Amino acid sequence: MTWKGKERRRRRWIIAMDGPAGVGKSTVGRLIAKKLGFLFLNTGEMYRALTWKVMREGIDPKNGKRIEQLARRIVWEFKPARGTSLRTFVDGVKINHQIRSEQVSRNASTVAGIPGVRKFMRKLQRKLGEKGGIVMEGRDITTNVFPDADFKLFLDASIDERAVRRYWQLKNQGYHVDLKTIRENIAARDKQDRERKINPLRQAPGSLVVDTTHLTLRQVANKILKCIHQRHYRVTD
Ligand code: C5P
Repeated sequence: MTWKGKERRRRRWIIAMDGPAGVGKSTVGRLIAKKLGFLFLNTGEMYRALTWKVMREGIDPKNGKRIEQLARRIVWEFKPARGTSLRTFVDGVKINHQIRSEQVSRNASTVAGIPGVRKFMRKLQRKLGEKGGIVMEGRDITTNVFPDADFKLFLDASIDERAVRRYWQLKNQGYHVDLKTIRENIAARDKQDRERKINPLRQAPGSLVVDTTHLTLRQVANKILKCIHQRHYRVTD
């Protein structure tokens, strides 16, 4: 499979991807974006960045009104790192490992349930993706942000596999973590993300569903690229 430079520049697809916590969306999304010469955006980082600000300002994560005001007050910037991943900056601060703690993860799921916050984020995400040539991942990208995306993907994996992946990811970043606690937190977040009233996590009609449990993330990316390639080449060539 080859992606000729001309083809790559001509195609300005929006590739939308959703799935539960710890399923490997970011790694897979980044690999696909790199291969296609596209940008990549992890929208979870936006909810985490806002949550980090909420915690720093001592705001209750359930205080919807104050959090919505905070989201609107923040200066949001997104700059591509190494030509692919759009990195989030809030009020000039580059968002990094500070948003990866389990406490931020838990509170992010609560903050993400605030309707005004979701509306605000969707507007930002649509603006970032409007020109295409982007892989965007999260919980509601295929259902709410870009329901008409050129490609819709849903990644899934068993909860045990996801807990182990998250464990190693955090451990490699220097966090002291406990597998049992991580598993419990993922289960709680799954429940909250799937059962919330507004924009819950679910498979959008027409999504390519990939179970990543027994695959490496590189295998998942190659499988998806093959499907994208075959589908588009069959249609257009
Ligand atoms: O993807 P990640 O686990 O970093 O996302 C953190 C939290 O942000 C999720 O648990 C979810 O509640 C929320 N989120 C969301 N919609 C998105 C992306 C993330 O509600 N598009």
